[in-house]
Amino acid sequence: MKHYDYLIVGLGLAGVAFCEQLQKSNRSFVVFEDSSQQSSKVAAGLYNPTVLKRFTVAWRGPELMMKSIPMYRELEKKLQIQIDSQRSIWRKLNNVSDQNNWLVASDQPGLESFLESEIAESSNASVHAPFGFGVVNQTGTIDTRQLVAAYASDLKNKGLLRETSFVYEDIVEEETSLMYQSIRCKHIVFCEGYGVKKNPFFNYLPLKGNKGELLVLKAPNLNLDVILKAGVFVIPLGEDCYKVGATYNPMNKDSIPSREAKDDLLNKLLKLIKTDFKVVSHVAGVRPTVVDRKPLVGRHPKHKNLYILNGLGSRGVLIAPFAAQSLFENIENKKALAAEIDIQRFSDAALAL
Ligand SMILES: Cc1cc2nc3c(=O)[nH]c(=O)nc-3n(C[C@H](O)[C@H](O)[C@H](O)COP(=O)(O)OP(=O)(O)OC[C@H]3O[C@@H](n4cnc5c(N)ncnc54)[C@H](O)[C@@H]3O)c2cc1C
Repeated sequence: MKHYDYLIVGLGLAGVAFCEQLQKSNRSFVVFEDSSQQSSKVAAGLYNPTVLKRFTVAWRGPELMMKSIPMYRELEKKLQIQIDSQRSIWRKLNNVSDQNNWLVASDQPGLESFLESEIAESSNASVHAPFGFGVVNQTGTIDTRQLVAAYASDLKNKGLLRETSFVYEDIVEEETSLMYQSIRCKHIVFCEGYGVKKNPFFNYLPLKGNKGELLVLKAPNLNLDVILKAGVFVIPLGEDCYKVGATYNPMNKDSIPSREAKDDLLNKLLKLIKTDFKVVSHVAGVRPTVVDRKPLVGRHPKHKNLYILNGLGSRGVLIAPFAAQSLFENIENKKALAAEIDIQRFSDAALAL
């Protein structure tokens, strides 16, 4: 029989962030991961504390930046990987009204440190933007695929990763601990992304899911070194390759690349860039989105040693470290969760359990 403080189900961004909390606090744990979901493996990895559609600050944007980016930098050192690429985002302005709105927003308290007040012109002949760009600073991307792979490999080397599906029916609840097959643990934390739909303990929560798809292009003459945002993001990857994405489809919940999404991305891309390119890959995944667009964090209303860390939506890079730390402090130090992330806000739905 093996004894651990925690058993974690799922090793996407949520699982990685929670395991980091555990490692830093010298708690023992084991992770189950079955590769049934792809969100963290296919994500564009953008971090941006603003909302470019409305020119506003994102929910807890600056605070999340201060919590999350240092964690990724620590992981770079620990795992000997390079995952953080800081680059400005250039948001295409579509008309004079867009330009005016940008200038007003760039002067707003809370936004002025991120949005540049001058409208930028692109000297890149391959880029079509007659009304210029608004530039957002302190932004960039985390290579989430590389992060999750390196983290999994590190856990595997330490004997802490079981590459198999977690079987919910095998949980046996005892007075102060839990048994799962040949494991005894104090707590189980479910970090399953959209996979939570199969979890009989937490599938009462209103997680909706939103399929997203991305392309990788090779465009030898594009020569971009910033991230462009128009209908789509264009993110430089190096060696003339670019990520282009993403689509949002709340109806479909599979992780299979579709012709329809590819056409949609290419149509939007062709309004922004004028140069030859070749599509080299196409990926899809399901974002764990929630009706009120806030994370799902906390303890099960009836099963006191079962917890959830989910609902990271389309901003998992920034939210995961904050949500993981909040849950850890809640479990270990009884620190209250922020009401907006606590699953207690759905206590009406829990009444039917
Ligand atoms: C196309 C696309 C682009 C995106 N771009 C961005 C972006 O630019 N910036 C950003 O911040 N976010 C982005 N996101 C969102 C981001 O990917 C998610 O917020 C984040 O990855 C969710 O992480 P997670 O760990 O909660 O879920 P997941 O990544 O889905 O991880 C859950 C893990 O649990 C495992 N699992 C599930 N059930 C079981 C089980 N029963 N047993 C064992 N293992 C199980 C799955 O295999 C999976 O690995 C994007 C998402 C998509 C799809």
